[in-house]
Amino acid sequence: MKRILLTISLCFSTAWSSAEGFHTFTPSQFVVPEIGGGVGIIDQQREKMIGEKVYRQIQNQLPLIHDPWLEDHFMVLFSQLLSQTQLGQPIGLLIVSDPQINAFAVPGGLFALNTGMITSARNMDEVAGVMGHEIAHVAQRHYSRSKEAFKGQSLLALAGIIVGAALAATSDGDAGGAVMLGTQAALMDKQLSYSRDQEREADRIGMQFMDRAGYNPQAMADFFESMNRSTSQLSFLPDFWLTHPLTTERMSEARLRAKQFPPIPYSNTRQEFAILKWYTYVISDQVSEEQVLVLAKQKNIAGTLAASAFYLKRGDYDKAQQWLDISKELKPSHNLISILQASILLGQNKLDDAYQAIVSKQRIMPENRALAYKLAEVLIRQNKAKDAEKIINSFVTKNYRDVTGWQLLQQAASMDKQNPMRTVNVLRYRAESQYWSGQEENAIKSLLHAQRLAKNNESASTKISERLKVMQSERQLRI
Ligand SMILES: [Zn+2]
Repeated sequence: MKRILLTISLCFSTAWSSAEGFHTFTPSQFVVPEIGGGVGIIDQQREKMIGEKVYRQIQNQLPLIHDPWLEDHFMVLFSQLLSQTQLGQPIGLLIVSDPQINAFAVPGGLFALNTGMITSARNMDEVAGVMGHEIAHVAQRHYSRSKEAFKGQSLLALAGIIVGAALAATSDGDAGGAVMLGTQAALMDKQLSYSRDQEREADRIGMQFMDRAGYNPQAMADFFESMNRSTSQLSFLPDFWLTHPLTTERMSEARLRAKQFPPIPYSNTRQEFAILKWYTYVISDQVSEEQVLVLAKQKNIAGTLAASAFYLKRGDYDKAQQWLDISKELKPSHNLISILQASILLGQNKLDDAYQAIVSKQRIMPENRALAYKLAEVLIRQNKAKDAEKIINSFVTKNYRDVTGWQLLQQAASMDKQNPMRTVNVLRYRAESQYWSGQEENAIKSLLHAQRLAKNNESASTKISERLKVMQSERQLRI
């Protein structure tokens, strides 16, 4: 199947919802008058609803990496770049476990990038370059401007194409075939490439976003050049360049343009990015034991941490600990060390030690989701359900689409044996985790079950009914 990368560029803005748990979701049928000029509230709500639908579809159909430590690094980058635009707040950032170089932005504030994109970059600024370029296509509405055939297409149809293209673009192209309809496939073939002018504009605007967000625009030109060097040795073109053709002319223009910005240092150190990159190699199974060990034996911190993560993943806790001990000598205060240490000790069932390994770091950085969720994991294993719930809730109330958060809440609730509402809570949390993973039918079943059990508790019953209504109505959206 032809592999295609896609950025859709409809420009609506979406409001970051700070919905709390179950009870503040706005029913989608809610009728609000339009604001004069600009995009109406109904459009904004609709835009967000569709963006979230795409988010659920991708969760359901692409192989994703759910690793808070990794996700949050790129979420920060995405938020910084998106805040340079009028596109509103992010819906989310998803990391697709796929060695191909690919990344795409979706209107409404969603970004997905492949692990291959991370591992082929040399620093965070290069990732920022690709992200800035993609966001620029969306911000400049290149999609709707360029394609005659798409005029009159509904946002829903476009969303369907986004999902279809994302599926088709994964290494396992067959998965896409099952979902993608013939018309969509045909549209994709014809429609999804940008003109030279649009590429130039996305480079130019993307560099402005980078510069304003504190990333070095030179990195966009660097990445183009290094990709050009490596793809010239390949018999195929990676996805990204199919839809964003890279010509010599475009490369030299990008370099010239980057030089016009005031010089700015690369945003994070080579070492810090190497840690991210090697960790990504390990958790996406893109690297062999030998390859990890070559780097680790040089006492390179990225290599020793990767080796620890590698053996942890295999359940070889002794070897994981050996490499972690070496990492501690090299860089004692790194967050990933605390996370890996707690995970190794959890694996060995040393719960008190696991708690000690993570708690002091988490207290210094309570806003850090990766540390908080690791601590919550430990607390759940220690049967301290209430403490765990409190920590997780502070994140889930800020981002109710956080599947990892809902899964942890479900585990915590099931440990809370004294609570008469235990089963109802477990079912409600399970429903949310299923819902945001794209299993809408199962989510509704879980909630219906919770509703039956909660029928004598008026307040719980009302919350559940309201949530159910929203889920049932959003399920009607077909993409
Ligand atoms: Zn492009």
